[in-house]
Amino acid sequence: MNNLFDKKESWGKRKRKSQQDRALAEMVKLGFEKSEHVKALLDNHKINPDTIKSREDLECLPVTSREKLVEMEMDDPPYAGLENPDVSIDRIFTSPGPVYEPHLSETDYLWARAFFAAGIGPKDIALNAFSYHLVAAGLTFHTGLRRVGATVVPSGTSSSQVQVQLIKDLKVTAYVGTPSFLKAIIDKSKEMGFDFKKDFLVKKACFAAEPLLPGLRRSFENDYGIDTYQMYGATEVGDVAYECSEKKGWHICEETIVEIVDPTTGKNVPDGELGEVVVTRLNNIFFLLRFGTGDLSRLITEACPCGRTSYRLAGIAGRVGDAVKVRGLFVAPSQIKMIQSKFNNLPLQVVVSRSGHEDILKLRIEKISHEIGSSPWEEDFKKIFREICTVRIDHLEYLNAGEIKPQEKLILDQRQY
Ligand SMILES: [Zn+2]
Repeated sequence: MNNLFDKKESWGKRKRKSQQDRALAEMVKLGFEKSEHVKALLDNHKINPDTIKSREDLECLPVTSREKLVEMEMDDPPYAGLENPDVSIDRIFTSPGPVYEPHLSETDYLWARAFFAAGIGPKDIALNAFSYHLVAAGLTFHTGLRRVGATVVPSGTSSSQVQVQLIKDLKVTAYVGTPSFLKAIIDKSKEMGFDFKKDFLVKKACFAAEPLLPGLRRSFENDYGIDTYQMYGATEVGDVAYECSEKKGWHICEETIVEIVDPTTGKNVPDGELGEVVVTRLNNIFFLLRFGTGDLSRLITEACPCGRTSYRLAGIAGRVGDAVKVRGLFVAPSQIKMIQSKFNNLPLQVVVSRSGHEDILKLRIEKISHEIGSSPWEEDFKKIFREICTVRIDHLEYLNAGEIKPQEKLILDQRQY
């Protein structure tokens, strides 16, 4: 490593901690002055902002889950009073909930560390197949790619056929998007008569938003000669961690404080134990302290042979609560309840399973009136479901009244990774 990224990434642990602790203390102090919410939060917990001096001191504050953030933003739109009113915000993103996020900054390192670690640079032409529409993914990955000097093809959610054409015509060398979409693009290229490995130049892929299954990874690497990298983050807090060429855990970004906590107590678990990933992004715009991602992981504290000295996350082991990610999008019980309320408290259940490399979303619905199941009803239902949850329904299954028991989960995740 020999450019600006290595400076912080190879800091000694003590130096990193002292720098992060100082940035955290500044963030809390500024948040207390500028954000009504942070002031109320600290006042309610009888905490003087000056007493938060290190990551260990964060434990006295509650973890804010995505669900909670949605509620807070609904009560006090758009940002729940968590923003710095003195800073001009360049973009506002949304994600399902709805939840609104101010873009952190044009000058930050969002995702650039990840792309640098994946070896992407000025010689690359990168296809960015993340959506540019309202959600943060497209533009933030784009900015990160530009930061490492790559040329970006902002293909977004264009069809797989269009993506194949772009890969061919523009001599694309790197793919950024979800693993299942890359698989679909490769399949489409076969259909179009191409040999992906021989005919195209894609040699690297950086994935986010859904898990990279080991079998699929092997196939990308062995069958198609694509070096694959995983990236991990959340719209609310930006990039959190990324893989280096060692591919043994994900390095935690320098701009974030990551805690691994017991989801029931919010207290840190011992290093190496499984717990919820809780993130505080050090910044002066959006004072979201201790964001609970709902993802389960472990910390790896040993040094990595790549030379980076940051702690690593040992991948994602699953979800803490009942909210699940379907094709990269969260579906939360609160959203399902909202849909039920729009249909006369219709008893229903969401079942998420996996077929090959694709998530399958099924809705089990009790036929409590005879219009349920008719084409106009189905059309209306699917439209409202998509508006609230963003994700598409694959199957509808109709049941008799009373078949869904009250103790059953609203969202049943049957996937096994
Ligand atoms: Zn490493």
